[in-house]
Amino acid sequence: MADLVFINGKIVTVDGNFSIAQAVAVGGDRIIAVGADEDVKTYIDAETEVIDLNGRTMLPGINDAHIHASLYGGTRPPLTLDVGYPTVKSISDIVKAVEEKVKESRPGEWIRGMGWDEGYLEECVKDPSRYPNRRDLDAVSPDNPVILGHYTQHEAWVNSKTMEVAGITRDTPTPEGGVIARDPANGEPTGIFSEFPAQALVMKAVPLWTKEEKRRGIQVMIRDLNSLGITSITEGALGSGGDGFQGGLFGSECIGIYNDLLNEGKLTLRVGWLYLFGEYGACTFEDFREVIPQLGVHSGFGNEWLRLAGVKIFADGTPMTKTAWMYDEYPGGGGRGSLVIPGNNDEERRSELIKMICFAHKYGFQVGVHAIGGRAIEATIDGFIQAEKDDPKGLRHYVLHADFISDEYIRLAGKHGFGLGVQPILKWTFSDSMDKLVGIALSTRQFPLRKIIDAGVHVPGGSDAPVVYPSWQAGIQAAVLRESKATGTVRGPDQRITVEEAIRMYTIEGAWQDHAENIKGSIEVGKLADLCILDRDILSVEPHEIKDIKNLMTIVGGNIVYDTGEIK
Ligand SMILES: [Zn+2]
Repeated sequence: MADLVFINGKIVTVDGNFSIAQAVAVGGDRIIAVGADEDVKTYIDAETEVIDLNGRTMLPGINDAHIHASLYGGTRPPLTLDVGYPTVKSISDIVKAVEEKVKESRPGEWIRGMGWDEGYLEECVKDPSRYPNRRDLDAVSPDNPVILGHYTQHEAWVNSKTMEVAGITRDTPTPEGGVIARDPANGEPTGIFSEFPAQALVMKAVPLWTKEEKRRGIQVMIRDLNSLGITSITEGALGSGGDGFQGGLFGSECIGIYNDLLNEGKLTLRVGWLYLFGEYGACTFEDFREVIPQLGVHSGFGNEWLRLAGVKIFADGTPMTKTAWMYDEYPGGGGRGSLVIPGNNDEERRSELIKMICFAHKYGFQVGVHAIGGRAIEATIDGFIQAEKDDPKGLRHYVLHADFISDEYIRLAGKHGFGLGVQPILKWTFSDSMDKLVGIALSTRQFPLRKIIDAGVHVPGGSDAPVVYPSWQAGIQAAVLRESKATGTVRGPDQRITVEEAIRMYTIEGAWQDHAENIKGSIEVGKLADLCILDRDILSVEPHEIKDIKNLMTIVGGNIVYDTGEIK
């Protein structure tokens, strides 16, 4: 008999036929029946809790296949100032927020913020030559070091106090693979540090969050994600390579915190993580060779709640900072970007990347590669093909950000069974800035979802939060409409996909990435009872309304972990 039964609903099962049912029965942590009300009712006895859905829509629990979840928790209040749009709309808003924080802080205490985006800062929009500068912050925070992360995480904006504490002067050399913005007149750093090697110079001075703070952030995150209907995630990068990076929120201690929460019965989110090695995320083949053979474990270690998913490699940067490795020159100059892996030239860096992929593969690791530019994706998939050719394991390696993949490499990903991770919510949020950064032609074909799905490629959907708020609803709307958030401009209407296809990206495709499509990702008998219930029917609402759909109840492993109280 069932512990929990839902009747009188519209159950979007996401099974092979995308069939719709009326009722679901849950026994323990599993789904024991799905079907018509009269069939499922036979599982009800005196002990069963019965919930009448009153026609509401149920989906499988949502899977965010690429998110920096611990970082998301730590970058939310109360730990960190929100300096993202729409909380702030200008540099002067940010300066005001820092000023307030200084007032309530002790002298010398660090002030952290996250989320600024020059595309939404009034001063920068009015005058494209205007960019955030340490002087802006010095005015209100002469004695407290300030560090404000760019929404992409690929750039940090600091004040002079931070530079002083970090020992950075005009004479500090620019590290390989990084950029220190400098005043053209005198070579003085302006306070903007781009890419990991440059950010590392300042990050080294920032005190790490304490374990207690990290735990608080992770608990804020779990509550937020459960409230959205999210029941499974892949942490995009966690491990020793992140110990000193982003306050330690990419670090190994976070893995331990998840484990503590699991042991205490407080983990209500299924977490897989990509292991990050190296220093400050700048991982090399040497790091792999030193660490991976010693681990003795590989992808799949763990259980249904907490699991080692694979290893993470950062192959290139982002188009926002012209560091993604593209086929064509960025409009207005600035080169084609490059891989961020050590090497004297493109060819050396490329073969280093391939060596890293093959090494991790040999030790049984699924590899998730941050590659955004077409050439970086090409090198990555070449590496995957090489690894599987030498030693076939079916590890389902995947590109984390298939933004600018070529048609040829979509075909190859399909042929060889590799995944192409996508974050349509990024397209929605940044579509207009992308027009300028890479040109309209390329912006139009960013995330070519129609082509990817038609080629039969697996396409797990994610948010990349805290780059953006982890709204899967906005992600589905973006994939269906391909409109920009700010202006509604449509880019690439021929790459639109259906709501059904988009739902699959955030459920069963994420389960595929986890090698777990047999236990989650759809509402079918025998699978884990991970479910969410929506306030309206996602399959029939006007597509512009999808982003506003509210989750009313979340069930993980048969337990109700979030409930607005509006259903019962
Ligand atoms: Zn990421």
